[in-house]
Amino acid sequence: EVGPRAFSDQPELWLKYYPRLKLTGHKYDRGHAVVVSGDMERTGAARLGARAALRMGAGLVSLASSKSAFYINAAQLTTVMVDAYDGPEGLADLLNDQRITAVMIGPGAGVTEETQQNVGAVLNSTSAVVIDADGLTSFEDDPTVLFEQINYREPPVILTPHEGEFARVFPELTEEPSKLERARAAAELSGAVIVLKGPDTVIAAPNGVAGLVENAPPWLATAGTGDVLAGIITGLLAQGMDALDAAMAGVWIHGETAKEIGPGMIAEDMSEALPQIIRRLD
Ligand code: AMP
Ligand code: MG
Repeated sequence: EVGPRAFSDQPELWLKYYPRLKLTGHKYDRGHAVVVSGDMERTGAARLGARAALRMGAGLVSLASSKSAFYINAAQLTTVMVDAYDGPEGLADLLNDQRITAVMIGPGAGVTEETQQNVGAVLNSTSAVVIDADGLTSFEDDPTVLFEQINYREPPVILTPHEGEFARVFPELTEEPSKLERARAAAELSGAVIVLKGPDTVIAAPNGVAGLVENAPPWLATAGTGDVLAGIITGLLAQGMDALDAAMAGVWIHGETAKEIGPGMIAEDMSEALPQIIRRLD
């Protein structure tokens, strides 16, 4: 009843859905990913995510930056375009573009009511969505507000909590007997694909299908690697991969990338090493 994909970390499960390059394709064939950056204090997280989405093969990646952080972001990005937005309504306007195929929000966003509203703007768009970090914990006081918005929309949503974030958004599920059961219950409750991170990562879809990826080396537990994971998954989603497959593939590719780099790795290294793993999938 867990589903055929359970307890396997093998790429064969999703390899046939992995996006292939078309010889005559152009960048718009590979999707447009938007990563939402928060205010001035913690802008690095969104940039890590944006760069990972680009390396993962999205045709176009842009950073939606709050006005206050615009110059910081623009000064540190080259291939990633930066667009400024002013408040949640400005963000909604910016995302009102049918060419955008995936949006990521949460890393460095700040635990605020404004972040709740920005997540609302993102969920109002027509793209697939990845919500991580502060994008989740901003709903700690009333997570049902988040789940209602997810269940209301058609395009898929992926939530990528670590255990601490999970406990804040799904407090009633912490008593479930196993990590697998926690992730599956959360997927059913929220209507999103859940990526419950840690040394082993459980991925669960609302229909009960679940999988386990355990290739992560211990040096992956360092600042910013979760932001990179969200970016990798966003890059795959942007190219049209199904949410469950994008989540499983993204977690596996993330772990392989860390293995390739080895101890001493920092989050910044990961995007640069992605091509070595991607090459093996072609
Ligand atoms: P975050 O918690 O958002 O910073 O993300 C941390 C990343 O490191 C996630 O991809 C986790 O799955 C991974 N991770 C955390 N702890 C470990 C560990 N002990 N061994 C391997 N990977 C880990
Ligand atoms: Mg994180």
